[in-house]
Amino acid sequence: MAGEPQADCLFCKIAAGEVPAEVIRETETTVAFRDINPQAPTHVLVIPKAHHPDAASLAAAEPAIAADVLREAGEVAKDEKVEGTGFRIIFNTGAGAGQTVFHAHAHVLGGRGFNWPPG
Ligand code: 5GP
Repeated sequence: MAGEPQADCLFCKIAAGEVPAEVIRETETTVAFRDINPQAPTHVLVIPKAHHPDAASLAAAEPAIAADVLREAGEVAKDEKVEGTGFRIIFNTGAGAGQTVFHAHAHVLGGRGFNWPPG
């Protein structure tokens, strides 16, 4: 069922504390933790605790929680002091766009310059 923990989902396990991660923020509905393979000086993932396979399905099923994820992404940028210099919030959606973990997550990237269009 949408939102229920999935036994084979890495980010459900991180949300439940069953797999260790460097958690920097937590709310009732979200967890923010450092990416294991950082692509910028700040690279934090913000996930909903509830399992939804990607950002679009999260927003369709639980718009308030999708908003929580976005709000927390902004709080991460403040905490990491990258707000002033600019940062990216990225939701890779679908394997063709580079999504590898099918539990919705925002990448918060900052602390370096960025190009457009993205690679
Ligand atoms: P995606 O490619 O799905 O948009 O992003 C998945 C992200 O999860 C990648 O940036 C990857 O480095 C990160 N990741 C994968 N496994 C782990 C893990 O076990 N712990 C943490 N902290 N990050 C992970």
